[in-house]
Amino acid sequence: MTAVLPRVAGLARPGLRSRLAAALVAALLAAPAPAQTPSSAFPVATDARIEQDGDLVRLTMALSRPVDLAASVVAGPDRVILDLPSVNFQVQPGAGRKGAGFVSAFRFGLFTADRARIVLYLSQPALVARSEMRTLRGGFGELVVELKRATRAQFESAAARAAPAPSPAPPAVAKPAGETRRTVVIDPGHGGIDPGAVVAAISEKSVVLAFGLLLKEQLEASGAYRLVMTRDEDRFVPLAERVRLAREAGADLFVSIHADSLTQSREVRGATVYTGSERATDAESATLAARENQADVLAGLDAAEDVQDVAGILMDLARRETRTFSSVFARNLVEKLGGSVKMHKVPLRSAGFRVLSAPDIPSVLIELGYMSSPKDAELLNSPVWRTQAVAAVRSAIDSYFARGAVAGKARESGP
Ligand SMILES: [Zn+2]
Repeated sequence: MTAVLPRVAGLARPGLRSRLAAALVAALLAAPAPAQTPSSAFPVATDARIEQDGDLVRLTMALSRPVDLAASVVAGPDRVILDLPSVNFQVQPGAGRKGAGFVSAFRFGLFTADRARIVLYLSQPALVARSEMRTLRGGFGELVVELKRATRAQFESAAARAAPAPSPAPPAVAKPAGETRRTVVIDPGHGGIDPGAVVAAISEKSVVLAFGLLLKEQLEASGAYRLVMTRDEDRFVPLAERVRLAREAGADLFVSIHADSLTQSREVRGATVYTGSERATDAESATLAARENQADVLAGLDAAEDVQDVAGILMDLARRETRTFSSVFARNLVEKLGGSVKMHKVPLRSAGFRVLSAPDIPSVLIELGYMSSPKDAELLNSPVWRTQAVAAVRSAIDSYFARGAVAGKARESGP
């Protein structure tokens, strides 16, 4: 569904809007409800090892019980993808940072609510020589996958044969009829198979999820907002899905939360607020956005499963106005955050983040700090710091909406 509902004042055409909205709601109501399985019911993976053995590279992983396993290869970048049902990975988050032989690194994690994935990155073409789920004594499982060097032609033909199934879209949350509160969408970055920055045993995906959940709780407590999360558990959500969820939820504001480790320097620290734009304000921001935009590919998605760009003059106008509102909110954030947490020396920047690409929703991305800075990493993990920073973001959201004349919201309440 690619219906475009402009959320900007002066562009709304009530007749068209309500027809589109009604169609959208009908489509969404038909969507199946999410399966709710507690992650404690999943088989547990406890140990992952990769080793070179002659001209083979072997990955082994211990599991509390055997599960189905499907292997495939994908080109550009060259990867081997192992699909499994949901698995609770109790493996050190940094375990896959070092590979062996022609495997440069690997990742593992939940890919959707009911699927897990392991992705191995290849520095040279290779094929799956053996992929097996062994049943051990006591009912335990052991995953054994062996890879063997191959020619480029062999690899390409295997990749063409076995494209992994595209990820099923997570269900969207449409705005209920009669809902008059502002909808704020909180987007904790990364998740599942994509850990984001990893320093020691701390991963960005868990830091930003904790932050996002607390922000949701605080905003909900005020009663003034309707809150939607792009993820509220440790799972992977493609970038385009985050934008789609926000649009289908009828978001008035989209807040993406990150805590990256961009710089080599341990000295660089502090929070930064980003808005989206084609041209980055500086080289560091451009690098960061390029890396964030790689998230889908690194998780094993095809680059072709891409967000559809919405074209047209009306959209250009909407986009420009939306950007103005994004900037207003970003300045609010810098002001409020600056009052309570350490900010980066250039705290307000922009770059081409795909997750900030909704043409009709004011969107910002907050980098809470640098995981590469020992001081920041410590703060990011501290409940006291988190509470202060969440209060600052909340107050920026309050003052943004208190100005009244926010994006399009001279508009109606509800479809
Ligand atoms: Zn990030």
